[in-house]
Amino acid sequence: MAVVGAGVAGLTAAAGLTHAGAAVTLLEKEPDILPLFRRLPDRWLHPNAYDWPAPGWDHPRAGLPLLDWGEGLVKDVATELRAAWAAAGKGVRLITRGENTQPLQEDGGVVVTWNEAHSWRALDRRRPHRLPPPRP
Ligand SMILES: Cc1cc2nc3c(=O)[nH]c(=O)nc-3n(C[C@H](O)[C@H](O)[C@H](O)COP(=O)(O)OP(=O)(O)OC[C@H]3O[C@@H](n4cnc5c(N)ncnc54)[C@H](O)[C@@H]3O)c2cc1C
Repeated sequence: MAVVGAGVAGLTAAAGLTHAGAAVTLLEKEPDILPLFRRLPDRWLHPNAYDWPAPGWDHPRAGLPLLDWGEGLVKDVATELRAAWAAAGKGVRLITRGENTQPLQEDGGVVVTWNEAHSWRALDRRRPHRLPPPRP
């Protein structure tokens, strides 16, 4: 399976799918995971503040079974998530600098393609990692 984007959602989805037994490739266009976390390192993050005023909005932890995290500064949340990813992301094939990632319809299925080191790559569950013909 392919997961596009190594933000919090992508890491969690990739870890969850791997936990469920899938072979997962995670594609990120930036050089590292959690690129958004490089900005505003001293901003305060809270996992449930958006739920206000519903009950539990002030609970300090996300309460996720994988890659759980708690309120804190962006830099501290990033450290917690990276540590959790080191354990939960084992087995995920991570590709960074995967540019122009996009799904293509082909032969009735979906092939995920991306540009890596100046050449086109593709993830096709029927023919893994073959190179597709050059695109215009
Ligand atoms: C200033 C600010 C403050 C915020 N504060 C909070 C908060 O306090 N609490 C909260 O819950 N949320 C907060 N958010 C929202 C927060 O950004 C989202 O909850 C969270 O980042 C969403 O994670 P995500 O993984 O869905 O998206 P993102 O973190 O945006 O991750 C998407 C990833 O996909 C990659 N990507 C995109 N296109 C491609 C492609 N074609 N190929 C490969 N990779 C690709 C990107 O590089 C990125 O790494 C805040 C957002 C901002 C901007």
